[in-house]
Amino acid sequence: MDRLMDIPSSAELKRVVVVGGGFAGLNFCKRLKDERFQIVLLDKTNHHNFQPLLYQVATAGVEPSSISFPFRSLFAGRKNFHIRMCEVWETDAEAQEVKTSIGRLHYDYLVIATGCDT
Ligand SMILES: Cc1cc2nc3c(=O)[nH]c(=O)nc-3n(C[C@H](O)[C@H](O)[C@H](O)COP(=O)(O)OP(=O)(O)OC[C@H]3O[C@@H](n4cnc5c(N)ncnc54)[C@H](O)[C@@H]3O)c2cc1C
Repeated sequence: MDRLMDIPSSAELKRVVVVGGGFAGLNFCKRLKDERFQIVLLDKTNHHNFQPLLYQVATAGVEPSSISFPFRSLFAGRKNFHIRMCEVWETDAEAQEVKTSIGRLHYDYLVIATGCDT
């Protein structure tokens, strides 16, 4: 995928690309409220999953919708905040780029919060 991702760029804002909207990525994005930065959250899904309650969903104790929170509603109204659903395939530290299923994206700072396989 060689095209550029469609994110507005601005010379005044440093771009922070956050890969993964799990516990770590989400809390990072919630806390970084600084007008000097543009934040781009990339995740292969469009929602955060509250994993500790997966068991209760599996045993029909709670509805799936009670443990999934769409990123768009969590960050509604945040300025200079962009969300894209895509899979991140590769990072190029020299070029300061991530390569994803929807194109390449330049970053000034990169936060990798992709969790781990259980
Ligand atoms: C069933 C279960 C119960 C748990 N119960 C507890 C508990 O009671 N207490 C507790 O403290 N912890 C619990 N945990 C552990 C806790 O959920 C994890 O420690 C925590 O979710 C890790 O957060 P994270 O942000 O590192 O990763 P995650 O929450 O896994 O988030 C990673 C995110 O990255 C995205 N991602 C991954 N790879 C890519 C990629 N290549 N491109 C784009 N996006 C990508 C994923 O879609 C995901 O949204 C539980 C886990 C499970 C599975």
